[in-house]
Amino acid sequence: MQGHLNVGSSQAPALWINPEHGGQALGAVVGNITINDVLLAEQRLARFAPLLEKLFPELEKSAGIVESPLLALPADVIAQGADAQGTFWVKADHQLAVAGSVKARGGFHEVLEFAEKIALETGMLKDGDGYEQLASTAARECFARYEVAVGSTGNLGMSIGIMSAALGFKASVHMSAEAKEWKKRLLRSHGVTVHEYPGDYAQAVATGRELARGNPFSHFVDDEKSASLFCGYAVAALRLQRQLIALNVRVDRDHPLFVYIPCGVGGAPGGVCYGLKHVFGEHVHCFFVEPEDSSCFLVRMQNPDVEGISIYDAGQHNQTIADGLAVPQASELVYSMMRTRLAGMVVASDERMVMDLWRLKSMADLKVEPSAAAAVSGPRALLGTVVGQQYLHSTGLDAFMPAANHIVWTTGGALMPADEFDRLFAQGLELSSQPQANVPDAA
Ligand SMILES: *Cc1c(COP(=O)(O)O)cnc(C)c1O
Repeated sequence: MQGHLNVGSSQAPALWINPEHGGQALGAVVGNITINDVLLAEQRLARFAPLLEKLFPELEKSAGIVESPLLALPADVIAQGADAQGTFWVKADHQLAVAGSVKARGGFHEVLEFAEKIALETGMLKDGDGYEQLASTAARECFARYEVAVGSTGNLGMSIGIMSAALGFKASVHMSAEAKEWKKRLLRSHGVTVHEYPGDYAQAVATGRELARGNPFSHFVDDEKSASLFCGYAVAALRLQRQLIALNVRVDRDHPLFVYIPCGVGGAPGGVCYGLKHVFGEHVHCFFVEPEDSSCFLVRMQNPDVEGISIYDAGQHNQTIADGLAVPQASELVYSMMRTRLAGMVVASDERMVMDLWRLKSMADLKVEPSAAAAVSGPRALLGTVVGQQYLHSTGLDAFMPAANHIVWTTGGALMPADEFDRLFAQGLELSSQPQANVPDAA
């Protein structure tokens, strides 16, 4: 699939507004997660910070906390058919240390929660102990008896695999067909066992889940069902709130906040949205962005009665350059939690992502992977389409748009090898120089 570009039907980022947004949560199960679980996750990451600082020298300057900056984004990156009203930001998760993607918070959290459980059960940790002692030989020998396994299109495997191996666990990553070679190589260099499958992401997850089942020494990180991952992802919202305060960015009725996040199964963007809705309520509007041929979350949102519906049922094929988003089926757990919280969905073509990868680098010096570049289609879709304008008008938001803030969540890219990035950059430049690239997005 390397180099394959899914051109799709048009260049326009299509926007879908969620009719249930802001409504009452339905009687049906809406997940068993509360904001307390997110606060506990944040505390757990803080407890482990001294250990992570010890294990990863690159975390010394942040004292073991893995967090990304909130950066100003030149509006030119977004503009192109859209009247770029408001202030633009990048939540630069593509720079997240160690894992290089949004998967760091959720993935690290779940591995650390598992390590904490074992350390307490085996008596390796006692109340009041500092967690840095989990770097001891005794602790590593204890962890080495256990395996942490995960299914991945690449980035989740890197997050789980690198952290598990660093603690001394055996680590196994079950990779789907779209996983990039360099991600497999990098994992193997960390001592992670990589299993390769010809099938899609849902199949890789199912196989990994099956292999780990019934083995008390194996912990399977289940991307479709894990509350621990979700809560780790949601911690981003609490930290973002503090970053906004530090930058004097207001969020209230007169200063609406729009957040655009690339979406695969929905866990990472769903966690962020859940946390942000808790913090900012009706003043934050979250949009997920998906590839045209892998829009599993959109398909699920549009078919509230069809549990487990996949993109294949909707005539899509899972062909996309955005390997991090090449997922056929949305997480039911996350879907249930997003039903009334999510403002809408955007879909972007592969061409658009590659052009935005080029724009982010050439205009803002940000090095992201195609999955992360998808986020740029978010504000363009909201501000540059009739559907978006109607949403802003019907909600009364249009009066406040000059004071709005938009956050483009760049979810991955730091660990991309230079040759891989350069190839995509050249493709983006070429596509952007073609005459039709400058045609405003159709409304
Ligand atoms: C995994 C991933 C996402 C989406 O996360 P999900 O939890 O699968 O929805 C977005 N961007 C990148 C780069 C990713 O690796």
